[in-house]
Amino acid sequence: MLEYRGVTKKFYKRDAEITALRNVSFRIEDGQFVSVVGPSGCGKSTMLNLSAGLSKPTAGEILYRGQPVTGINTKLGYITQRDNLLEWSTVYDNIVIALRIRNVPRQKQKELADYYLKLMGLQDFAKHYPMELSGGMRKRASLARTLIYSPELVMMDEPFSALDAHVKGMMHEELLRVWELETKTILFITHDLTEAITLSDKVVVLSARPGTVKAIIDINLPRPRDPFLLQTTPEFIEIYHRVWDLLRDDIRKSEAA
Ligand code: ADP
Ligand code: MG
Repeated sequence: MLEYRGVTKKFYKRDAEITALRNVSFRIEDGQFVSVVGPSGCGKSTMLNLSAGLSKPTAGEILYRGQPVTGINTKLGYITQRDNLLEWSTVYDNIVIALRIRNVPRQKQKELADYYLKLMGLQDFAKHYPMELSGGMRKRASLARTLIYSPELVMMDEPFSALDAHVKGMMHEELLRVWELETKTILFITHDLTEAITLSDKVVVLSARPGTVKAIIDINLPRPRDPFLLQTTPEFIEIYHRVWDLLRDDIRKSEAA
């Protein structure tokens, strides 16, 4: 569905040149849950912006269903790191925005909104404003707002990084439940290795900047997964240690930089 072929991205700031990504190649198949982990500043958000067509690679190419991404890719949903909910609109209005833009009939908007509000456990909060919601509820609202227009590929940029551990665990359960129900393709960005392994079919490990692919690891843990139980199994712990060995030096490097 999405393929990176030798993608390099450089930024130019006055006389300085920053290489954010170098020669990144990997692919995501239809229906897969793929995570990208890497230390802060290694080019993860840059990667999503490239996939969305918001900026162009300096070298290499990104293919979406076999075609090079040239302009803004409207087939995908992009949940940015900050949730972008409109504070002065109700949860309901926030959720149906994409449908309004597409001129979906009101009755259909209502049906879809009711479905996704319920799916995300927000049915009693339709008339609330975002600032009245907890952190986890805001995340669920932004997920509903993206899923409602049925993007084929959902990209999520560190969506749960600001949540405390227990809320995060519950969000993992919900995301897996929704993913299994709707069989979406997901590209998930995180710096949290436990989260990446828990959720994914495949984990792409990036080095410190410039982000290069250090390893691509298949996570063959059985599904459906219970995040809390899974994390205590020997199989999970073995994978965790294997990936952590790859990441450790790069996290030190990015902290020292
Ligand atoms: P991550 O999401 O992994 O933390 P980013 O993709 O946000 O990292 O950034 C990677 C590097 O590219 C950083 O050094 C950042 O400062 C730089 N960068 C990102 N976007 C721009 C931009 N528009 N202009 C200049 N430099 C940028
Ligand atoms: Mg980022």
